[in-house]
Amino acid sequence: MKILIDVRKLLHYEEVYLEEDHKYTFEPFHLGAEEVKFISPVHLHAGLTRIKSGILLDGHIDTVVEVTCSRCLERTELPLDVDIHEVFSIPGMEETFDGFDTVFTIGADEKIDIEPALNENIIVNIPVKPLCSENCLGICPVCGKNRNLEKCNCEEEKVDPRLEVLKKLKDSL
Ligand SMILES: [Zn+2]
Ligand SMILES: [Zn+2]
Repeated sequence: MKILIDVRKLLHYEEVYLEEDHKYTFEPFHLGAEEVKFISPVHLHAGLTRIKSGILLDGHIDTVVEVTCSRCLERTELPLDVDIHEVFSIPGMEETFDGFDTVFTIGADEKIDIEPALNENIIVNIPVKPLCSENCLGICPVCGKNRNLEKCNCEEEKVDPRLEVLKKLKDSL
């Protein structure tokens, strides 16, 4: 899916600044084994500024995604509120942009596709191990119950992870 913004006026200096305020519907996508769904549209509020070798996009994106809590494995909503700062280069002038991990290129049709930039900014802001709450109790390793919902009476062996490694090593001898 492409999200195109016409930047012809900026390229021809008919304007030096454009303000964009849009909401986009994003399809679910996979991040490794994780399915990321969008609970609300991706809202972009940003300014496009004409600079010598291209266009600077500066602003803000917010949305709510649904991911899986890494402790209790329940689906959970994760609001994202991200500052976005990207450059779109005039073709052939990419190397003039220093200090940007990614330089996007302006299309020959004088439009920019901002979808990859939005995606990138969303993905890097989804934690590797999302949590439904900081205090999520997770799943009981003995009976498999979600301890946020139900208290179980399993006796848990409290094993120091370092000792656990030694124990495994000893068992394997
Ligand atoms: Zn959880
Ligand atoms: Zn249990």
